[in-house]
Amino acid sequence: MRYLVYRAAFEALALPGVAPLVRQFSRAKGVIFTLHRVLPEPPAAFAPNAILQVSPNFLEAAIVKSRAAGFDIVDLDEAARRVESAERTKPFVVFTFDDAYRDNLQYALPVLKKHNAPFTLFVPTALVDGAGQVWWQALEDIIAANKVVVVPGPGGPRYVDAATTRQKQSLYDELYAAHRAMPEPERVEAIRALAGRAGIDLDAHCRALIMDWSELKTFAEEPLCTIGAHTVHHYELSKLPGEDMRLEIDQSRSIIKAQFGEAPAHFSYPIGSPVAAGPREFATVKELGFRTAVTTRPGGLYREHANHLEALPRISLNGSFQKESFLDVFLTGAFFSVLSGGKVNVG
Ligand SMILES: [Zn+2]
Repeated sequence: MRYLVYRAAFEALALPGVAPLVRQFSRAKGVIFTLHRVLPEPPAAFAPNAILQVSPNFLEAAIVKSRAAGFDIVDLDEAARRVESAERTKPFVVFTFDDAYRDNLQYALPVLKKHNAPFTLFVPTALVDGAGQVWWQALEDIIAANKVVVVPGPGGPRYVDAATTRQKQSLYDELYAAHRAMPEPERVEAIRALAGRAGIDLDAHCRALIMDWSELKTFAEEPLCTIGAHTVHHYELSKLPGEDMRLEIDQSRSIIKAQFGEAPAHFSYPIGSPVAAGPREFATVKELGFRTAVTTRPGGLYREHANHLEALPRISLNGSFQKESFLDVFLTGAFFSVLSGGKVNVG
């Protein structure tokens, strides 16, 4: 009976291989949650990046219910210690926020402070300088604002209808895939050309979305917050030549140390999927001496991760987790019971 509840929970997430997943999670020592934006307003009909946002209420529920289900909320140093411990340790969750969106200051920080919940903020430094590209959001904003989108190309511009939600979504999917497939210097130029046609200043767009250094200082001085590195430009590391990849990681750490006096000990791979970060990136992060590094490969944390602290899985606590069917199960603590090593009959 309980298994059916878990099964419903995982099916709500559309995760394949439900039974093995439940069995796997039953041995987990803990889990790291990935979050990005925290916004009270529900997303618009066309909002392909809504998957990156949760509401403040959902964040609060996740904190309260984690503790009610017997989990400690810990920072990444403590998570690493528990993963390395051969003893049976108390189950834990880690809250991580990527990209330093300004809404984290307005909507996430008050909730985290109210509940005395430690967390990590992963910071891409060029974006904080206001000189980066939040290109996935720019793409959405360009398409959302225009009924016809002018797409520059080698054979001249294309004029693509984007009046309906369906047309917008289809164009977003096409352009997102095309941009992900380009080498980074080409992608930087392509989104700049597209934004130029649409009258969007990408630097201003970045500054509107991402905190500046003075805002970030609030987080650096917050005892609950660990500042982590997230590269300089938020490039997809696997697409860069080795030396550039290394510089992106190393320089982001130096820049944060120069700003706040302390070198981050933790790192998050931009995008973080297997195609975006692999063995070459893991080896570099390890060699550079980071204590842990997190991916977006889904999964719980196990004793075996003590040997792979530079490639930790996370669970995305994102827009799709806010589906009511999942939220109901989530709020009963059933999800956490699965993670806590409770005796789950998967027969
Ligand atoms: Zn990121």
